[in-house]
Amino acid sequence: MTATSPAAAPHAATFTTHSPTTGKAIAEHPVNGPEEVSLAVARARTAQAGWAALPASRRRDHLLRWKKALATDLDAVARTIAEETGKPAGDAALEVVLTLEHLAWAARNAGRVLRRRKVRTGLFTLHQQASLVHRPLGVVGVIGPWNYPLYTSMGSIGYALAAGNGVVFKPSELTPGTGVLLAELFDAAVPEHAGLLTTVTGAASTGDALSRSGVDKLAFTGSPETARKVMAVCAETLTPFLAECGGKDAVIVTADADLDAAADAIVWGALSNAGQTCAGVERVYAVREIHGALCERVVTRAEALRPGAEADAAYGPMTLPGQVAIVERHVTDAVSAGGKALFGGPGSVCAPYVAPVVLAGVPEDAAAMTEETFGPVVAINPVADVDEAVERVNASRYALGAAVFCRNGRAGAAIAARLRAGVVSVNSVLGFAAVPALPFGGSQDSGFGRIHGEEGLRAFTAVQSTTVQRFTPPIALTSFDVPAVTRQRAVRLARSLHRRR
Ligand code: NAD
Repeated sequence: MTATSPAAAPHAATFTTHSPTTGKAIAEHPVNGPEEVSLAVARARTAQAGWAALPASRRRDHLLRWKKALATDLDAVARTIAEETGKPAGDAALEVVLTLEHLAWAARNAGRVLRRRKVRTGLFTLHQQASLVHRPLGVVGVIGPWNYPLYTSMGSIGYALAAGNGVVFKPSELTPGTGVLLAELFDAAVPEHAGLLTTVTGAASTGDALSRSGVDKLAFTGSPETARKVMAVCAETLTPFLAECGGKDAVIVTADADLDAAADAIVWGALSNAGQTCAGVERVYAVREIHGALCERVVTRAEALRPGAEADAAYGPMTLPGQVAIVERHVTDAVSAGGKALFGGPGSVCAPYVAPVVLAGVPEDAAAMTEETFGPVVAINPVADVDEAVERVNASRYALGAAVFCRNGRAGAAIAARLRAGVVSVNSVLGFAAVPALPFGGSQDSGFGRIHGEEGLRAFTAVQSTTVQRFTPPIALTSFDVPAVTRQRAVRLARSLHRRR
């Protein structure tokens, strides 16, 4: 509960967060219900009117002050993330750094991207001056996940605020402290617009209340199953909806690729953050000639890594206790279906940790190849050629990220262009995540809509198109006073022009 949280009723229910590492209680937070959520939306709406009226340069300065506060308190923010998710302190600090980069970009570019711009008119509209402008929507509801509780949610929050909106944020029930701290820092850095960003806490019921609260758009990040439920609620009121969901990201490795670089990137992309990354590496398709050599390199690197709570551990525990059973099922199924455990296996699961698992030759219809595993597991399958690799990558019901390793960057980019993924890296993994100007998002079960970049700013706006009549047109076609002969002449002129080309 923060200065920015809506007041909870005196005997409101609370919930306790626990350390995924030790199981010990961290903090208590109120379960905000429909009343508190509505109050937060109303406060944000009031604050938004003043915020939207500011020149873009003033909003930029305010947001940069908030960014500065986040940078100053980087250690405290990273500590909260690490405590709630169990991820190593270094990973949590990196998450804050990435967030700062995005917030800076959104703050500095919103004015340029969203400003009014003129567009050309046509033959019959020469008398008009036409322009369009991107205006804020009002109040945006943001529902976030726990795996990157700051970075992921700020992909919507920072861009929505920069576009002139107010925001009510419902963080995951596993990571509410990060959301609360974020709103507290905003109020402290920008006190004249307190209430513009409010964090409400709770689980599904609080998220449901936010979906029904009359916000002007709902930006959801989480699983496709929950996205479907939230979208159905939004459909009742035609509330616009943006869905950033899961992934089953694949890497293609060609015969001429730098195998050491590919193995390094695959291991990091699959195992960092215990594999709990929406665009993490879960599948690899390597052409047969180099499949064995790549597997050897991946195993050698994976062998050197172990999860734990110590400072030198490569990654931490599974944050969501229930995910451990899903990871175990995927690995057990893969092995019993004929897949080979090159390193680790079902025995690698020892809650709350899962040691690295490297599989090969897993049948394409096994759960480990079709469902999001969200654990430190990677399956490396051989393919005859790049065509087969592309076909297999595109066969997934998910279409979020992908990567291609290929000696020649241009050839790699040509392969990337054949993939349905919304974000692709050539000769690296997750390269797009650190470039704020690049839109991020997927399709199919990975959701729809884009965050980040210019599209990410425009996602939280509505276009208003305007014409201003500069002079009385010589042929005024939109009047009952126009003689029939003038209209016929205009039609003849248009027909002859449009017939030419
Ligand atoms: P989840 O779907 O369980 O929950 C997401 C959020 O929705 C939480 O805040 C939760 O409290 C809320 N929620 C649950 N039921 C709700 C309901 N009925 N109405 C409204 N809100 C409700 O997902 P999670 O376990 O928190 O996150 C993991 C998932 O998120 C993975 O699938 C991962 O791939 C995905 N993810 C995607 C991206 C991306 O940008 N594409 C980024 C991070 C995580």
